[in-house]
Amino acid sequence: MNFKSDLRFNSRFWEVPDAPYDPDAPVCDWPNCDGVGEFKAPKSRENLREYHHFCLDHVREYNKRWNYYEGMDTADIERDMRKDYTWDRPSWNFGTFKQAPGSKGGGFKDDFGFFNQDGTFKGEPEDDMAQFDWEERKAFALLDLKPGVTLDELKARYKVLVKKHHPDANNGDKDAEERFKIISQAYTLLKNVIVE
Ligand SMILES: [Zn+2]
Repeated sequence: MNFKSDLRFNSRFWEVPDAPYDPDAPVCDWPNCDGVGEFKAPKSRENLREYHHFCLDHVREYNKRWNYYEGMDTADIERDMRKDYTWDRPSWNFGTFKQAPGSKGGGFKDDFGFFNQDGTFKGEPEDDMAQFDWEERKAFALLDLKPGVTLDELKARYKVLVKKHHPDANNGDKDAEERFKIISQAYTLLKNVIVE
């Protein structure tokens, strides 16, 4: 994680509103968000004069991806945002997964440090992640795997996680059900990405 570049980005591009609520602020540009788009961020490096309007959560998310977006044009970036949404809902929320030590439930270990302390995704890929898109990186992170794993290793990992997070093993717990769904999606995605 490169906090310095984040901060530079923030001070250059974030336009913090004077008032906490601006009735004229447009709706957040993030797919299917109805937050107030109080914060502005440039549409791409090639298009620094046109802005997206985001709510606070989404300007932060966008900001985190800024380095990943390097070399992409505006259309690519918007496609990426939409694509993220399709796999995203209802709750592709890393905060749910990163649980306090000793808490009940199925928090992920995050052995490789993909997450910030508050459970948000760091979004600064290591070199061996560079070939993977955002969605694939998230899948690796969720399964606690590094690129370079074999298909057999992926399957073995999936088996372990299924056992742990399956709703039946958690008395039909709603969160477990959600985690299970997301793990399955991540597994399906990576199965098609990992080539032997
Ligand atoms: Zn938003």
